[in-house]
Amino acid sequence: MIGLFYAQNTGMQLNFIHNQSLASQAGQTIPMLDPSDGQVFDHIQRSTAADIDQAVQSSRQCFEGPWAKINAAERGRLLMALSRKVAEHADELMQLEQRDCGKPTQQAMADARALVRYFEYYAGACDKFHGETIPYQNGYSVLTWREPHGVTGHIVPWNYPMQIFGRCVGGALAAGNVCVVKPAEDACLSLIRVAQLAAEVGFPAGAINLVTGYGHEVGDALAKHPGIDHISFTGSPTVGTLIQQAAAERHCPVTLELGGKSPQIIFADADLDAAIPVVINAIVQNAGQTCSAGSRVLIEKIIYEPLLARLGEAFSKLRVGPAKADLNLGPLIRASQKQRVQGFLADAQAVGIATVAQGVVVSDAPESGFYQAPVLLRDVPFNHRVAQEEVFGPVLSAMSFDGEDQAVQLANATSFGLVAGVWTRDGGRQFRMAKRVRSGQVFINNYGAGGGVELPFGGVKSSGHGREKGFEALYGFTTLKTVAIHHG
Ligand code: NAD
Repeated sequence: MIGLFYAQNTGMQLNFIHNQSLASQAGQTIPMLDPSDGQVFDHIQRSTAADIDQAVQSSRQCFEGPWAKINAAERGRLLMALSRKVAEHADELMQLEQRDCGKPTQQAMADARALVRYFEYYAGACDKFHGETIPYQNGYSVLTWREPHGVTGHIVPWNYPMQIFGRCVGGALAAGNVCVVKPAEDACLSLIRVAQLAAEVGFPAGAINLVTGYGHEVGDALAKHPGIDHISFTGSPTVGTLIQQAAAERHCPVTLELGGKSPQIIFADADLDAAIPVVINAIVQNAGQTCSAGSRVLIEKIIYEPLLARLGEAFSKLRVGPAKADLNLGPLIRASQKQRVQGFLADAQAVGIATVAQGVVVSDAPESGFYQAPVLLRDVPFNHRVAQEEVFGPVLSAMSFDGEDQAVQLANATSFGLVAGVWTRDGGRQFRMAKRVRSGQVFINNYGAGGGVELPFGGVKSSGHGREKGFEALYGFTTLKTVAIHHG
């Protein structure tokens, strides 16, 4: 049956359930827009709770049937085969993601490569993750087993579909779970293809099921389904709250990867030549639609003006255009996202926040595309909404600080705590700042470390809880059983 209903480039994408491409039971669809020109280029299934139910039942069958017979080393081989298959199809996947999300070619290809790497990393982890023995009273042997949760639900956002699929599904499978995935309605074509590729390399039916549709319909149905044993959610704090509430009703464990308002803290002794391109990339990558975007730059007072001038000069050279033009930035995901970003800019302007510089939308970018020039704002009051809320667009808020204490105060003065960058040559200060900044990751004299598949990732405060990526993710994707044997 595998592949019988594949619908590549036919203008209609299907769900992938039990290794079959299926239309949703209700027979409705959602149009997909190309952010570069705003035109409809494909359709996905507008699934309902009935499709989620079918997917969960299929995954349960798989978990208790064929998947239970596959040992850890074999799981690793399957994941490695999938990694190789994705590498063979990297160009195809890159193009799907590019059209869906409006990503410049280099970014879309980096995402395809990250997916390869996630599967490769977790392939190697499968048979190296295990429990322990615990010294206890005489006459006892006590051991712990790391057991998979079972059928795991994965709700994925539109900004990095392939990367986020790789980290949550890769980790969940490596730990012995099976997965029901609900990608975002704005961008999911690459993931439909990856689910098909997984079937081709031998994942049993139900190991990876994928159901598309609106969040408030199928996402909600997935979060509330009694057959889901663990939920991994990546998305906005607002929806994260709904997911946690749904999970709380039935005491289902949840990992929440939410947003951020991450600071880049630049001290006067920093290597500014090294910092400037990284600070800029951290806010313009994926047109600022990155949870870990460095959206606030905190600059030590003594270098505030000269550094702002240099950042401004670099900003004014940034170019925005259609995804395929492969410029510094592509379009935003949809018209409402552009309106949202412009709303923040209008609010900033209304209180007199000045613009240092902005980039340029190229003249041949279609008017119907969702383009937004990157903007550098100065002297942003720390409590203004542009410095507090996630803009999710290419807007960088600059402010100055005087000394370490004030830097820490400003860095921690939002409800988020995902990532922070600290730029200084002072070794003692590097450690002090890393300890005092409240966030899930701190990068010293770099930012993001090139994606870091191996590096545990997640937030504190409104940025969420639980960790994905790296070996650490395997703890979250398993539960611990303690076995005490009295043998005398
Ligand atoms: P979103 O919360 O609107 O949607 C995320 C996913 O949740 C989508 O698949 C959506 O369909 C689904 N969803 C929406 N409403 C739902 C509901 N009521 N019940 C269940 N599911 C529902 O977020 P978005 O706009 O797609 O993505 C942007 C957000 O994601 C930003 O806040 C960003 O910071 C965050 N994000 C976080 C990380 C991270 O790892 N921390 C990574 C990427 C994006």
